[in-house]
Amino acid sequence: MAYWHGIDYLESIMMEWKQPAIDSTHSLFESQKTTAQQWRRSSLQERIDRIAKIRSWVKQNQKEIRLALWNDFQKSEVETDLSEIYPITTEINHTIKNLKSWMKPKAVPTPLAMMGTKAFVHAEPKGRTLIISPWNYPFNLAIGPLISALAAGCTAIIKPSEMTPHTSGLIEKMILDLFETSEVAVVQGDAKTSQELLELPFDHIFFTGSPQVGKIIMGEAAKNLSSVTLELGGKSPTLIGPSADIKDAASKIIYGKLINCGQTCVAPDYLLVHESIKDRLLDELKIAIQQQFDPDYKGIENSKDLTKVVNDKHFRRLDNLLENALNLGAKLEFGGKRIPNHRFFEPTLLSLITESMDLAHEEIFGPILPILSYTDLDQAIDYINSKPKPLALYIFSQDKEETNLVLEETSSGNVVINDCVLHFMHQELPFGGVNTSGIGKSHGYYGFLAFSNEKGVLKQRIGFNNASLLRPPYGTKTKQIINSLIKWF
Ligand code: NAD
Repeated sequence: MAYWHGIDYLESIMMEWKQPAIDSTHSLFESQKTTAQQWRRSSLQERIDRIAKIRSWVKQNQKEIRLALWNDFQKSEVETDLSEIYPITTEINHTIKNLKSWMKPKAVPTPLAMMGTKAFVHAEPKGRTLIISPWNYPFNLAIGPLISALAAGCTAIIKPSEMTPHTSGLIEKMILDLFETSEVAVVQGDAKTSQELLELPFDHIFFTGSPQVGKIIMGEAAKNLSSVTLELGGKSPTLIGPSADIKDAASKIIYGKLINCGQTCVAPDYLLVHESIKDRLLDELKIAIQQQFDPDYKGIENSKDLTKVVNDKHFRRLDNLLENALNLGAKLEFGGKRIPNHRFFEPTLLSLITESMDLAHEEIFGPILPILSYTDLDQAIDYINSKPKPLALYIFSQDKEETNLVLEETSSGNVVINDCVLHFMHQELPFGGVNTSGIGKSHGYYGFLAFSNEKGVLKQRIGFNNASLLRPPYGTKTKQIINSLIKWF
């Protein structure tokens, strides 16, 4: 694939890129105030039109999106189409199809004590929103939340990741092509820019990134009592029980682990495999790596399908994780080859893992897969529960009882049985974490709700009604009514 020589002005945006002045972010925020007020009354069709123009732009600029991702970290065309473009087009299609019913006020039943009233839940736009996104799926994770914001009727300022300048530049161009800055705007920059934006009293902040930065975001949001959605990360365990189809599991685990070179928030972080099938699983994992990334035995480093590590800083981080584990006694079962100047990191399988190793605690976020074993399911469940609650938990098992036990006894944002990672693409499921792995949910209806205030509305009749009986002066009758309310309702 050719490197990107095409869009010169984009290069110039990046060459001249500077931290935006605080004044300009303030005035940008101010400029969205009137729009946010006008958009409160925007019709279904107006919201659909705003979302549909993103779909047209994406379709017309698919080539540019692929090139930006290739330039940022040599992400293959197929993976870009699947993990950056398809999630956006399908999210748009799903939103357009369902927005009418999402926007419709939802009537709620009337309790006996409230007889004579009517009530409904009205999803109103929260208003001015901020979207801060990470580098690992830089297009998908900036534009996905924007679709939810627009569906809910909100304005947005997007702060994309500074680590993927080509994609962030393209996002800025897209937004400038499609929206007035008083509607949707992109502010480029690093943590400092983020922090300047966080001083503003946004009505909602949607952050995707690491748990460490998530804590900072929540702390800043608290100063304005802005609501937050925090889509964070962590260590997603993958449990492989003795009844699992080993070949099938190995192939799916390798795919889920190595898509985007392991730089995926929901990638299997480590395996917990039943001791009785550990050796067979290891063999099948090696075969799966070979089949998926080196079918012609030319060396995995020549694979066009394995994305590179995003930058030198992350390469060094992964290098340190691996060296630390090896120094502390981990066994290298497969891989380990590294070519720093190409940021190539070979898929690497490790066994003999101990808690003294850094990779037993840190989110790996790369192509290193530690393999731990267990003999008793309770022991495996205790291990999972000894760590912060994960974003995703994967179970490979054909034993219903075992699967149910893991579901009941562990907590995680999502669970996938007999596969991994796929749930991200399922628009009917809430996507997100729990505590350390995230707060709030996204995708489809759940994304729409994240940017909406669910306003409860009660409509009372004129004149006499049940509540009239409760007004002062409080006499015996009032007390009797209240007593029966407490007793019966
Ligand atoms: P990060 O937290 O370092 O950065 C995310 C964003 O926050 C960037 O735009 C960055 O500029 C900004 N930022 C960084 N430091 C900041 C600070 N001190 N104050 C304010 N803003 C700051 O995350 P990353 O390295 O870009 O992405 C990797 C992390 O994101 C992993 O932990 C991964 O699991 C997680 N992630 C989660 C999801 C999800 O949907 N739950 C998806 C992708 C990635």
